[in-house]
Amino acid sequence: MSFDVLMPESEDELLTLLMSENAKIMAGGTDILVRIRAGKIKPEKIISLSKVRGMDEIIDKGDRIYIGCKVTHSAALSSEILKEHSPIMLMALREIGSPQIRNRGTIVGNIVNASPAGDSIIPLYLSNARVVISGPKGEYKLPIEEFIKGPGKTALSIGEFVRAVEFEKSGSWYPLFYKVGQRTAMAIAIASIGLLVKDNNLRIAFGSVAPTVVRAYKAERYFERNNGNIAVMDEFIELCMEYISPIDDVRASAWYRKEVIKNLLRDTFNSLRKKVL
Ligand SMILES: Cc1cc2nc3c(=O)[nH]c(=O)nc-3n(C[C@H](O)[C@H](O)[C@H](O)COP(=O)(O)OP(=O)(O)OC[C@H]3O[C@@H](n4cnc5c(N)ncnc54)[C@H](O)[C@@H]3O)c2cc1C
Repeated sequence: MSFDVLMPESEDELLTLLMSENAKIMAGGTDILVRIRAGKIKPEKIISLSKVRGMDEIIDKGDRIYIGCKVTHSAALSSEILKEHSPIMLMALREIGSPQIRNRGTIVGNIVNASPAGDSIIPLYLSNARVVISGPKGEYKLPIEEFIKGPGKTALSIGEFVRAVEFEKSGSWYPLFYKVGQRTAMAIAIASIGLLVKDNNLRIAFGSVAPTVVRAYKAERYFERNNGNIAVMDEFIELCMEYISPIDDVRASAWYRKEVIKNLLRDTFNSLRKKVL
């Protein structure tokens, strides 16, 4: 295992290096170094973002929040902008790894890693996030649901990188985020659920139970049609289950994951009824 580490200092230099053969970007390195060590990828060049100027900002953009690609989970957790305008994001980030992992790992790294278990991806789906991509043709934005194509697969083309992610503020929505893992800390999700509720509107997403994080749009519309009063919980659960296609893996069986989601839904709505519904 040997590779060169390149340290561009500007975006232009980064874009030039990204045209090299078999080169991979590294932000915090908490995913990529594990994959290199396990022999899953063998890049010849690692392009570190550590010396690139800027891209570490969290900006209030009116109705949206902009997070640069060098923002770590820890930096995001101490952001006043996120505390006020995206409590759901903070709930999810608190669940990631350990303090060491949160100090190095970035939100954009979590997105590009494209794991269905990526904790920060759930609030981003719920907040209609757009991924800001920079490349030889300039900058453009893609909805996160189009950017993430499957486990480990994204819409990024050669020469491109993710400059930032931006997403809607949700400070006026009631947030909930639950993650079930094999342990209470330092565990990748077996299944997770995130939701935002405001009046008769609901947004609901699941992690680790399909090839990507999924938003259960039909269940959201059912909630709205029933004015936030889910008379028949089983019907609501059935609509959610249409989006769920878990696999058996080392952490849990598909059957177990489905049962976990059904139970999480029942518990979540019991708790919502006491608080907001
Ligand atoms: C012990 C341990 C525990 C963990 N626990 C959790 C957990 O509980 N929940 C969770 O969601 N994740 C967890 N992770 C996974 C990981 O920490 C996160 O996915 C993290 O957010 C990755 O960010 P990073 O900056 O370290 O990414 P990196 O490892 O630097 O990069 C990840 C991928 O993204 C690409 N990339 C990074 N930045 C960019 C960019 N700007 N543009 C284009 N491509 C880019 C890299 O090339 C690579 O393919 C854990 C990892 C470890 C080792």
